[in-house]
Formats: sequence, C-alpha cells, structure tokens
Amino acid sequence: MARRRQLYEGKAKILFEGPEPGTLVQYFKDDATAFNSQKKGTITGKGVLNNRISEYLMLRLGEIGVPTHFVRRLNMREQLIREVEIIPVEVVVRNVAAGSLSKRLGIPEGTRLPRSIIEYYYKNDALQSPMVAEEHITAFGWAGTQDMDDMVALTLRINDFLTGLFLGVGITLVDFKVEFGRLYENDDMRIVLADEISPDNCRLWDSKTNEKMDKDRFRRDLGKVEEAYQEVARRLGILPEAGVRDLKGPETLQ
Ligand code: UDP
Repeated sequence: MARRRQLYEGKAKILFEGPEPGTLVQYFKDDATAFNSQKKGTITGKGVLNNRISEYLMLRLGEIGVPTHFVRRLNMREQLIREVEIIPVEVVVRNVAAGSLSKRLGIPEGTRLPRSIIEYYYKNDALQSPMVAEEHITAFGWAGTQDMDDMVALTLRINDFLTGLFLGVGITLVDFKVEFGRLYENDDMRIVLADEISPDNCRLWDSKTNEKMDKDRFRRDLGKVEEAYQEVARRLGILPEAGVRDLKGPETLQ
C-alpha cells in the first residue's frame, strides 16, 4: 500500500492524511523533548505506550460525554482521528504544585492546591509557548468567549474524571495539559478534546510514595523512564498484548 502523505511532524507525533476526508492518522514517535526542545532524547517504546494510554483515556472520557477527536486505534503506533482545527491554546490544569508553578511562585512541589487552577499558554514554539490570560486569547481571536467557556467546562470535567480514574489505580494526577480543536460537521461546530493525554503531558505520581511516573523522569534525568510509562499502562490494565518485549512496535505504516 502507498505511504500516506505526511501533513505535519511535531516533537512527539506525526500526522498523516487519513483514509477518508475529515480524518487523519496520528503516529506516536519515541522522541522526547523538554525545556522547549533544548533537551532531546528517545524513550524506547514511548510511542506504543502513549498510543494505548491516550486511546484508553479518550475512550473513557468519550463514555462520560466528553467529545474527542479519537476514532480508533489502527496499530501499535497509530490511531485514526477526526481532523479538527486546533485552537492554539494549551490548557494546563493543576491540582498539586509542581514544575513551572512551583518555580515561578515559590510554592514547594507537592503542595496540594486549595482548588484546581487552570492556566493558558499560547501554543507557539518560536515564542516558547508563553503563558497568557483569557484576555489575550479573546482579544487576539485565538478563541472566542463561547469557545473558552466550552474549553473550561470540558477541562474541569476531564480533570475530575481523570483524577478519580488515576486515584483508583494508585496514581495522583498532579497536573496535565490538554488541547482542543474545532470539529466542523455540516453547519455545526463543536469544541472537542484533541492531541493526546499521556505521561508526556501529565504529571503522575504514585499515590503512596510520590514517585514520578511521567516525563519528569526524562526532564530531570531520574532514569527508568520507559519503566514508568509502562507501569502507568500496566496499572490502567492496558499493556500491549505482546508485553514488554515488543515495545518498539512495527515501524512500517499501514
Ligand atoms: N506540559 C505539556 N507541554 C508543554 C508544557 C507543559 O504537556 O509544552 C504539561 C506538563 O507535562 C505538565 C503540565 O503541562 O504536566 C504543567 O507543566 P509546567 O507548566 O509545570 O511546565 P514544565 O515544568 O513542564 O516546563
């Protein structure tokens, strides 16, 4: 079969033209970057695990009525998604202080926040995705006020649901980043969850030991990065059938 036309290559994923109009194929790479791409590396098997983890979380979210771009998994590294117009805003939710919040505001890592905090970042690599206020987003037309209301409502539901889901498998959802897109159907437009939800864009700590089970292991050279991603998948009950021996997965596209 002919190779699909590549539309976009990002830091951790590649998007290909889908098999039918309005669809795309999302391919998960093993590449990892941190600190605005200053640090680069490979986490063997990450793409296979993130494909599974994101599939699982998006399906569970779909079941509670959160619309997502996910259609179905195609193979070890690829999933079919609906083509959406990505809103250039990264929505971060925090339940426990960590990362840039701790650094900027001097709140020690691990401090439980009095309530969940939502932050926005303008999705722009050249500008290193600066933090912005809702005012900037609406003034510059990146999203309208209705879009923002929809995104916040969805984000809070996602946070509540995922917090419970992870707690059930002994993991604290410290913070995470989501992206949304506009899905056009006939004359309608809906805001749907897009991109991925995986240990690449969540902070996940073991509830008992607070051990990090996410990309911070790569960012901070803590070692056992693959093992941490695998452990998240194992606890969610979704390790690939082939088990840990075959995490590289097929390199060829369908
Ligand atoms: N995050 C992300 N992509 C980014 C920046 C942050 O997925 O470009 C996620 C990150 O994994 C964490 C949350 O958003 O779960 C909050 O990240 P933070 O602002 O603390 O930045 P960091 O410390 O990752 O630079």
